[in-house]
Amino acid sequence: MSSERITYGPVEGLRAGRYGLGLDMKVTCYRIGGTLIDTGPPNQWRAVRRFVTQQDDEHGIDRVILTHHHEDHAGNAARLQELLDVPVYAPEKSLDRLREGISLETYRWIVWGRPRPVEAEPVPESLTLADGTPLHTLSAPGHSDDMVCYLAPAHELLFAADLYVTRRPEYLRFDEHAPRLIESIHQVLEHDFDAVLCAHRGVVEDGRRALADKVKYMEALCGVVRRRYRYDKLSVPEITDEILGTEGMLYWATGGDFSKHNLIASCLQEVEADASAIVE
Ligand SMILES: [Zn+2]
Repeated sequence: MSSERITYGPVEGLRAGRYGLGLDMKVTCYRIGGTLIDTGPPNQWRAVRRFVTQQDDEHGIDRVILTHHHEDHAGNAARLQELLDVPVYAPEKSLDRLREGISLETYRWIVWGRPRPVEAEPVPESLTLADGTPLHTLSAPGHSDDMVCYLAPAHELLFAADLYVTRRPEYLRFDEHAPRLIESIHQVLEHDFDAVLCAHRGVVEDGRRALADKVKYMEALCGVVRRRYRYDKLSVPEITDEILGTEGMLYWATGGDFSKHNLIASCLQEVEADASAIVE
């Protein structure tokens, strides 16, 4: 188990996590001024505690804001609230799941640990950072229905949570929604920023380009999948095999929670539809 520190302009980050199940499952939480964005997975608590209590400038952490309810982001929010006696803010849609907890697939508590429930407050649309500049909340569903990104326009930075992760995704979790993710990336790209602070990749300096590349790739993928499905009458497993090949390590390591099949099936979902029924 190891963790590493990141410094990028006014931002400090802690990248912590395990190499679980043969996969790099590291997650980064970021600090800008006294604001901590995300809190790392529960089993990284010792590294997170060191990160928030060994700051050598005069400002400590005075608030915690979360991007979504997943345990690798919200996992230490309860402990931080208790340790630092600071408010925890989260997207409105995350609040119930943070308070009541969610059931985790086995691989998730093996890799990240189990989070404690936390009572969070709804994050405002805009906050003021310690240097007097704003931090805006941008709704960005798709990876999860509650996810938001945080934009620091004065620093041209986007705290992207799990919006980016990779330029060419090959897998999707069962509860992710590809067309909604595409829509969110387009909406986020309407704002001014340069670098992306990704929860899994760390600092992506050409982040705007990387996100634009990702959305282009995903749109092309959705286009091909829809054509093959609607006009050529291929099934989802046939299209998956044709475009992405057989399932790999991530599928087996996560008990099928992440799969190529999910990605292809999700390309056929509609943005308007509330029910996210996956096509067999
Ligand atoms: Zn997530």
